[in-house]
Amino acid sequence: MTNKTQQWHPETLSVRAGSEHSAFGENSEAIFLTSSFVFENAAEAAARFGGQEPGNIYSRFTNPTVTMFQNKLAALEGAETCVATSSGMSAILACVMGICSTGDHVVASRSIFGTSVQLFSSILARWGLQVTFVSLTEPTAWRNAAQKNTKLFFVETPSNPLTEVCDIAELATIAHQAGALLVVDNCFCTPALQKPLDLGADIIIHSATKYIDGHGRCLGGAVLGKKDVLEPVYGFLRTAGPTMSAFNAWVFLKGLETLHVRMDAHSRNALALAQWLEAQPKVARVYYPGLASHPQHAIAMCQQKTGGAIVSFDVKENGESGGKDAAWQLIDATQMISITANLGDAKSTITHPATTTHSRVSPEARAASGIGDGLIRIAVGLEHIEDIQNDLTYLTK
Ligand SMILES: *Cc1c(COP(=O)(O)O)cnc(C)c1O
Repeated sequence: MTNKTQQWHPETLSVRAGSEHSAFGENSEAIFLTSSFVFENAAEAAARFGGQEPGNIYSRFTNPTVTMFQNKLAALEGAETCVATSSGMSAILACVMGICSTGDHVVASRSIFGTSVQLFSSILARWGLQVTFVSLTEPTAWRNAAQKNTKLFFVETPSNPLTEVCDIAELATIAHQAGALLVVDNCFCTPALQKPLDLGADIIIHSATKYIDGHGRCLGGAVLGKKDVLEPVYGFLRTAGPTMSAFNAWVFLKGLETLHVRMDAHSRNALALAQWLEAQPKVARVYYPGLASHPQHAIAMCQQKTGGAIVSFDVKENGESGGKDAAWQLIDATQMISITANLGDAKSTITHPATTTHSRVSPEARAASGIGDGLIRIAVGLEHIEDIQNDLTYLTK
């Protein structure tokens, strides 16, 4: 990274960091859709493969468009290095496969993306990885769960769908005392709102599919951190293959240019919607870190720039909290908001976690983690706030 890059403000890094230009002098970064790269002669090929000479060889190893994306995201997160992956899930997989071995142990938050739970408990467990799930918001539980063979602490903050928040700096200290690395899935906030490495975390995971793209177009992911820590993660990716395509990297490069303006606008709409929801007769409870009523509001406002863009709430049924019928009626009464489980899109999206994203979790486990049958999650988009509210008039009567 150049000195100039280090002096730039975050908004400027979004637009400018990582850009490289070909001999054609294009202003918008080029997409290098090529699987391999050619050499001048046999000696150059040998030197590239042998590592004596830097440069591209094959797009599973490196690709110039992917490198530009990695360098831009690394600049934004303040990370030494970034490796891009084919999806958010392959970022998590690469992180664990690179750093852990059979018999190692991971402590993970109970409130993580449903597929991440499946990856840890159904797939990685078959390869001898031990996993303990604990409550995101109870530091003592993390301290008690750590073992001699614990390699990673794994969290999402704010969590999905209840937007619980943990104190990243406190958890980093507990992880380091236990000889483990703290991994933060920073998908909900992005570096525009939260910088986990500055707070002591060791590794950041991204599903670029969400706010980094910002328009619901492509799947992708990234792992960020120190070079020596990520060396085996890159080694896994380069060998096993779930790397990012040049086309997707280009889409994410363009998405990152508007990251700050988008996250500010998403956050303004989300706060306004959360406040409006708190005043509606059919809403029992609102979950949004930007509200004073949120249990970890103070921590959230210390480590996040805003409350983020995800708002969840319990719909009342017959005056009581927690009915699936009322939740489904609300969803079916919307005309504009997209009924889909994705998030991080310019379009607002609405989902019923109990019967979609968390339907594979047992009813008991769902109840234990507070995901009731009346819970609705809205990923607040960039439409005018009054149009979003008008689509939810079901709640007002
Ligand atoms: C979507 C998501 C993932 C998985 O990302 P994909 O790109 O869908 O593979 C991981 N973590 C969080 C928090 C997510 O929201």
